[in-house]
Amino acid sequence: MSIRKILTYPDKKLRNKASSILVEDILKPSFQKLITDLTTTMFHDDGVGIAATQIGEPYQIFILGRKTPEESLVFINPRITFFSRKTNFTEEGCLSVPGIFGLVKRPVKVRLKALDRTGKKIDMKISGFDAKVIQHEFDHLQGILFIDKVEKITQGDIKALESGKIPVSLKRKTDVAF
Ligand code: ZN
Repeated sequence: MSIRKILTYPDKKLRNKASSILVEDILKPSFQKLITDLTTTMFHDDGVGIAATQIGEPYQIFILGRKTPEESLVFINPRITFFSRKTNFTEEGCLSVPGIFGLVKRPVKVRLKALDRTGKKIDMKISGFDAKVIQHEFDHLQGILFIDKVEKITQGDIKALESGKIPVSLKRKTDVAF
């Protein structure tokens, strides 16, 4: 396993749409290594979620962080099949948009269908903070970043980041970077 470099905004590769993975390819060592690398990288950077496009791998895989890498959930070829009508604001940050935080309005509940790291079908109803992380990661696989949807920036300076000034301190005020 290795820690991979996380692409940061405005890297154009973050705008690539991820491709789905053939079920028979999931168990191949190259994909299993990609899953392990993604999880390792997420833990290394204190993220609570990460998508493969954030490390420049154009595949439909994202991770939902748990206490340990082993417990963390892997979602392959995800589809969100239900969004609650009820929405609310959550403060979000992103490993690929360092130092920036903001309020994003999203549905509070979703239903997610995907495959796990063994290729087994997953069908989950998810609410609360996990639902927000899942929508954020799902967006990454479509080339969408939270700053496209943010309604109010609570910390940081997007213009500075665009001009290449990545903040020296990437210390996050809360556990909201994914
Ligand atoms: Zn992100």
